[in-house]
Amino acid sequence: MSKVLIIGAGGVGGVVTHKCAQATGVITAITLASRTESKCRAIADQIEFPIGTAQVDADNVPELIELIKREQPKLVINVALPYQDLTIMDACLATGVDYLDTANYEPLDTAKFEYSWQWAYQDRFKEKGLMALLGSGFDPGVTNVYTALAAKKYLDEVHEIDIIDANAGNHGQPFATNFNPEINIREVTAACRHWENGDWVETSPLATKRVFDFPDGIGPMNIYRMYHEEMESLVKHIPTIKKAQFWMTFSDNYLKHLEVLQNVGMTRIDEVEFNGQKIVPLQFLKAVLPDPGSLGPLTKGRTCIGVIARGIKDGKRKQVYIYNICDHEACYREVKSQAISYTTGVPAVVGAVMMLTGKWRGEGVFNMEQFDPEPFIEKLGPMGLPTVVVDGGDWAEL
Ligand code: NDP
Repeated sequence: MSKVLIIGAGGVGGVVTHKCAQATGVITAITLASRTESKCRAIADQIEFPIGTAQVDADNVPELIELIKREQPKLVINVALPYQDLTIMDACLATGVDYLDTANYEPLDTAKFEYSWQWAYQDRFKEKGLMALLGSGFDPGVTNVYTALAAKKYLDEVHEIDIIDANAGNHGQPFATNFNPEINIREVTAACRHWENGDWVETSPLATKRVFDFPDGIGPMNIYRMYHEEMESLVKHIPTIKKAQFWMTFSDNYLKHLEVLQNVGMTRIDEVEFNGQKIVPLQFLKAVLPDPGSLGPLTKGRTCIGVIARGIKDGKRKQVYIYNICDHEACYREVKSQAISYTTGVPAVVGAVMMLTGKWRGEGVFNMEQFDPEPFIEKLGPMGLPTVVVDGGDWAEL
C-alpha cells in the first residue's frame, strides 16, 4: 500500500499523475496538489483512477507540512518548479517522508544550476533514515542512468560522454517553449560549461555548434553545446570521465527569436520598474508566451535523447550510443501531453517505483547514477520509453 503526493499540476505533473495511476501494482493512492487546485482537478478528471486534489503554496513550509501530515504519503514527487525544491525537502524532513524531483534547486534571482544546495541535505536525510532522489526526469534522469549503464555493461572505463537532446518536433507556433518558458529560457541563455580534464571550461551560451545525424530517419540537425546539471553529478560519481558535454537542438527560428528577446532585455531575471510596479521581464514574457500545455495537441514529430559514451573495453577504445525516441502525437493520444513532458514524467514515476519497491534504497540524498541502472531500464520501456543501444561503431568525437 503506497500513497504518493504529487506537487505541481503543470505539463509534467499531468503525465506523472496519469502514469502513477497506471502503476497500481505499486502505487495504491494518489493526491495531486498545486498552487491552483482547478488545474489538479482538470488532470484528475482525465483519469479513471480516483485522484485526490489539494491546494498548496509550496514556497510555504508550514503549509506543506500540514498537507503531508493530512495526506500521509510514503513519497512526495516534486514536479513544481526548481525554486520549490528546498522548501519541499524541508517539509519531507519534518514529516519523515521520502522525496523525489526532476530538476535541481535554483534561486529565483540567479540562474545558477548546481546541486550544492541539495547535496547539503545529505546528513539530515541520512539521520532521519530518509531517501531523496534528485533529477529523476529524462535529462537529468534517464541520461544519468544511460551513463551508468554504459559504465556497468558496455565499457570498463567511461572517458567521455556527449549527452544529446533533440526535439525534432514542430508545434507550428512562431515562438514557444516546450516546458515552463521561464525555466527553459534561464537554462538556454546561461553561460555554457563543459567538463574537460578535471575542470569546468566556460564558453559563451550556444557558441559551439555541430551537426549530428540522428537515428531512425530523424537525420542531421544542428546541435548547440550548453551547460546541463547532470554533468555535475556524473563527473563526481563516475570520476573516470575526462570530458562531458551536453548538446541540444534548436531551430534557426527559435534562436532568432531568443536573440531578439535577449537584445531587448525581455529575458532579464532582475526586477525593473514598470508603471510604478516592479516586474521581472522574463516572468512577464512567460505570461504572454503560449502555455506549453497548449502545445500538446499541436506538436508533431519525435524527440531523440541519449548519451554517447566513449572509453575502454578489454583494453580497446570503444563507444556506445544509448538513446530513446519518443513520438509527440503518440504521447498526446495516451496522456494528453507532448513528448517533452512525457519524457520527464515517465522517468519520475519509474524512479518512484524504484524507491517504493525498495529496488533503489538508501539513506541520504542521491543522484540517479548511484543506483543499479538495470532495474530502472527494465521498467522504463514497458512504462512508455524504450531504450535503444548501439554497441560499438567508430569512435567519433563531436
Ligand atoms: P509547469 O510550469 O507546466 O508546471 C509547474 C507547476 O508547478 C504548475 O502547476 C504551477 O502552478 C506549480 N507551482 C509553481 N509554483 C508553485 C508553488 N509555489 N506552489 C505550488 N505549486 C507551484 O512546468 P513543467 O511541468 O513543464 O515542469 C515541472 C518541473 O519539471 C520543473 O521543475 C522543470 O524544471 C522540470 N523538468 C525537468 C526535465 C527533465 O528532463 N529532468 C524536463 C522538463 C522539465 P500554477 O499552475 O498555479 O502556476
